[in-house]
Amino acid sequence: MPNETTRGSLNMETETNTLLDSRVPSGPLEDKWENHKFSMKLVNPNNKRKFDVIVVGTGLAGASAAASLGELGYKVKAFTFHDSPRRAHSIAAQGGINAAKNYKNDGDSVYRLFYDTIKGGDYRSREANVHRLAEVSTNIIDQATAQGVPFAREYGGLLDNRSFGGAQVSRTFYARGQTGQQLLLGAYSAMMRQVSAGSVELHTRSELLDVVTKDGKACGIVTRDLLSGEVSAHSAHAVVLATGGYGNVYFLSTNAMMSNVTAAWRAHRRGAFFANPCYTQIHPTCIPASDDFQSKLTLMSESLRNDGRIWVPDAFDDSRPAHEIPENERDYYLETKYPAFGNLVPRDVASRNAKNVVDQGHGVGPLKNGVYLDFAAAVERDGQDAISAKYGNLFDMYESITGENPYEVPMRIYPAIHYTMGGVWVDYNLMTTIPGLYAIGEANFSDHGANRLGASALMQGLADGYFVLPYTIGDGLADQLGNPAVSTDDPVFTNAVSAIEDETAKWLSINGTRSVDYFHRELGRLVWDHIGMSRNKEGLEKAISEISALKEEFYSDVRVLGSADTLNLSLEKAGRVSDFFELAELMAHDALKREESCGGHFREEHQTPEGEAQRDDEGFAHVAAWEWNGAGSLQTRHVEQLDFENVTLTQRSYK
Ligand SMILES: Cc1cc2nc3c(=O)[nH]c(=O)nc-3n(C[C@H](O)[C@H](O)[C@H](O)COP(=O)(O)OP(=O)(O)OC[C@H]3O[C@@H](n4cnc5c(N)ncnc54)[C@H](O)[C@@H]3O)c2cc1C
Repeated sequence: MPNETTRGSLNMETETNTLLDSRVPSGPLEDKWENHKFSMKLVNPNNKRKFDVIVVGTGLAGASAAASLGELGYKVKAFTFHDSPRRAHSIAAQGGINAAKNYKNDGDSVYRLFYDTIKGGDYRSREANVHRLAEVSTNIIDQATAQGVPFAREYGGLLDNRSFGGAQVSRTFYARGQTGQQLLLGAYSAMMRQVSAGSVELHTRSELLDVVTKDGKACGIVTRDLLSGEVSAHSAHAVVLATGGYGNVYFLSTNAMMSNVTAAWRAHRRGAFFANPCYTQIHPTCIPASDDFQSKLTLMSESLRNDGRIWVPDAFDDSRPAHEIPENERDYYLETKYPAFGNLVPRDVASRNAKNVVDQGHGVGPLKNGVYLDFAAAVERDGQDAISAKYGNLFDMYESITGENPYEVPMRIYPAIHYTMGGVWVDYNLMTTIPGLYAIGEANFSDHGANRLGASALMQGLADGYFVLPYTIGDGLADQLGNPAVSTDDPVFTNAVSAIEDETAKWLSINGTRSVDYFHRELGRLVWDHIGMSRNKEGLEKAISEISALKEEFYSDVRVLGSADTLNLSLEKAGRVSDFFELAELMAHDALKREESCGGHFREEHQTPEGEAQRDDEGFAHVAAWEWNGAGSLQTRHVEQLDFENVTLTQRSYK
């Protein structure tokens, strides 16, 4: 088991401490960002090359940031544990990216996108950040189009839009069901242009295992080469984490198998506060699990809810095939319950309703663990060719996984973990509580409050990378002009490298009886059962004690085969799973402490008579940001109060 000083039981009795300052600029909402850009310090073009910036992660957020910072003239070092930046999880994004262009002339605006996002997040995000996101959303589309990203177009040549949940306008730009892939090719190409120009140095197959600080400031990272096992130090004036979300703490998720929390968690252990870890998003339209041994779940894009109708049989335990169930024996429960938004209610609402009907015994499929998403009416109305043009690759993917043809029989879907709204706490400049350390994209807690609206993650990642960080990072660097980066010979680096080498050796020496995957799966079961789609006090307390017991077993009984100096997937995974254990404990404590329901965080004790999330704005209109105090010590719960000056907090209604 790893050293007690590096890994240990988290005694997480919580205490609330200081108020956090988000450094949101003053002034009217719509002027804040413009004024802030003007008031921030600048680094002159010739001085930018004197600054080294490390960007960890080359998904949409990281690649766009590395490309933009390189273009500005900074000396960038970009790291990814993938063999190519094109393998980042961002490539999996199917449905689209939001922007307030109002091309459909249906009443969209920057304010409406801002408003929908604040409301969709159940009033648990920062107004100023969300407004900035809506403002720069339009630039992203122009940038990507200029790069050649092949967005779908209408017959007249304008870019086409479709609708996503939580909105009554069409503002989602898409490239069939491959929007993430196409956007990533754009950002990747922009970054590789800088690699050729010499302003970005790309390190693939390199995993960040520690963030290094000196005198309280970030000064670099420690990485392990996943092919040779070599542990090395890299120094810079600023470090940017663009390392994605932590959905794989649930083991089964729609995330890429390698997505993990390690970079964010190691930064947390070095002093970066971790915000709202209990805000996790369950996506309503995933293919239901087909057995207990499955290791991956597949998303069916939310865009399908534009044309698919969700229903279950009225009768309990109905085993008739869908086509034998007459219209008057079907329950189109979302259309009935939420007539205004129908099948396009936000994800948290759609997911909870699917769980309810399945729990009540209306589930469909061999394991009765799904609901139908039916395209019969759309095919009859628009023809198969039109439906195929919009969703063809998604239908093909569904058929190759399930063996069922969704043009002929309804898809079966069920909610699955998909996205994490919690993450590293950042201020308005996207800087963490460690000066010089920034977090962007899904890795930060940022803009989505307690529930992210569909097609808003790509928007946020690219907003951060192309249009926000490139401005704000200069403000932090300007004062460091003339200071060389800390040498990698400094003891802060050499000690960090030795600690990682020791930790690696310890995993190999435990020599227990169970695989890393066994523990990850068991952990995932606990997290899904107790910190999943709905939570209650008893379950959360149980989770805390059972996760802790399983973690102890993991440290004493895991078996990691092979050696440290070759490619060793289970060695890589051991460290990641150990971080998931600590994160899972924090998620449970965070969920326990938040005595309200909001967005994806549904506490059964706090619901309206209709079963909707019941917020407590008096007690919890705040961000909870946790401070690591060392293994075995109390974590401190800090609070950032959320002030709503432009929207009125109401009970969310999609009826
Ligand atoms: C199936 C699916 C479909 C989706 N569809 C949509 C959609 O249609 N629209 C939408 O808006 N959102 C969608 N999302 C969400 C969206 O794809 C993600 O939130 C977004 O792509 C995250 O981008 P990112 O750049 O922050 O992180 P990622 O793309 O996850 O990239 C993380 C990067 O960090 C690197 N990394 C991580 N840890 C380390 C480490 N320790 N050391 C070195 N490198 C590291 C990885 O190698 C990778 O390069 C979808 C999500 C899923 C799961």
